[in-house]
Amino acid sequence: MALTQEQILALDKAHIWHPYSSVNSAAELYAVDHCQGVEIVLKDGRRLIDGMASWWSMIHGYNHPELNQAIKDQVDNMAHVMFGGLTHEPAARLAKSLVEITPVGLEQVFFSDSGSVAVEIGQKMAIQYWHAKGHPQKNKMLSLRLGYHGDTFAAMSVCDPVTGMHQLFNGVLTEQFFTEAPACKYGEAWDEKYLLDIRQQLQQHHKTLAAVILEPIVQGAGAMRFYSADYLRRVSELCKEYGVLLIADEIATGFGRAGKMFACDFAGITPDILCLGKALTGGYMTLAATLCTNEVAETICAGEAGCFMHGPTFMANPLACAVANKSIELLLANDWQPQVLSMETALREGLAPCTQQASVEDVRCLGAIGVVEMKEPVNMATITPLFVEQGVWVRPFSTRVYVMPPYCMAPAELQKLTSAICSVVERL
Ligand code: PMP
Repeated sequence: MALTQEQILALDKAHIWHPYSSVNSAAELYAVDHCQGVEIVLKDGRRLIDGMASWWSMIHGYNHPELNQAIKDQVDNMAHVMFGGLTHEPAARLAKSLVEITPVGLEQVFFSDSGSVAVEIGQKMAIQYWHAKGHPQKNKMLSLRLGYHGDTFAAMSVCDPVTGMHQLFNGVLTEQFFTEAPACKYGEAWDEKYLLDIRQQLQQHHKTLAAVILEPIVQGAGAMRFYSADYLRRVSELCKEYGVLLIADEIATGFGRAGKMFACDFAGITPDILCLGKALTGGYMTLAATLCTNEVAETICAGEAGCFMHGPTFMANPLACAVANKSIELLLANDWQPQVLSMETALREGLAPCTQQASVEDVRCLGAIGVVEMKEPVNMATITPLFVEQGVWVRPFSTRVYVMPPYCMAPAELQKLTSAICSVVERL
């Protein structure tokens, strides 16, 4: 027999830990009954338009018949099989399409379970690369302030030291180098002065640096800010100049979110290593991939270890690969770019009234990302019920009230979402 809403909430309260939360949190939790299209339907029958696409991932919407079918077909064939010494069609197809759609030159794909793990793998590749080249001292990362790369230890070490709470893990986290967050905003005129700090860091530390790691164009969970494509292009050039690899973390931006298939495409660059996750499976299952150039892969494999030292149990899970293949097929067939660009216009127009509010610092949009930056941090426990009252699901953090809806959201639904944000922001 199905559990009632009360039973679910009671069990949850007794035993479940939620993301970034206290087990003693008094904040209200909402039990979900099911999801359909762009809506989350609660156990009590309320329907919420989803502004978060389940943390950037659910790009085609929920309960999509073709994505569902891809999993159903695959499950009858093989839900999982180990990847050591074995391979299968869903993984082979997925690797081929990832190599085809990502920036030219990324040829090798390493599958893993989640974004954070893909970032661990990216760093490990960079370290093994320099080890194999006879430079084991090149094992540090240079990262951008206000960046976010995940919650596992190596990923945490390259997150912004302040918002990533490095002091809590002082002495445990690997100490990395940090450069200023890019000061040149997206679309702003370029000036070489914006490179001063990163150039200086590279000059000073390149002998111990394995890689620069960054989120291209969109600094997501750490800041929700958009920076210049010129900065990205010039940093890519500086990495080559100083003999340091470039790791692009496109876990949040990959698959069209910012208006290009990959944010690296804004600058026309190919990183040495690329991390993907989130929307890779259309948000259906957990899967990530770390891609690299042949040069990186060949060097690692010619090194002392003779191989890359990683191999997760659920590597290239066939169900996840099958749904990822279908998601990419839908994306390419759906003319995603005009869809995302018209979302940008609608978000810009819909959120514009927020600029009139004294509590608002800035409103900015890029692709299917809309951000209202407040002057003061919002109180999540009090703001969430206000959104739910308005029939939308928006989950702000710190000073950022933001949305990244599924690409399939209809104009009227998007308008309801932006109007709800305007009306909630007005009450703050
Ligand atoms: N990198 C970036 C840029 C992200 O936005 C995230 C997740 N928000 C991660 C890494 C970590 O991914 P996951 O939560 O799947 O571990």
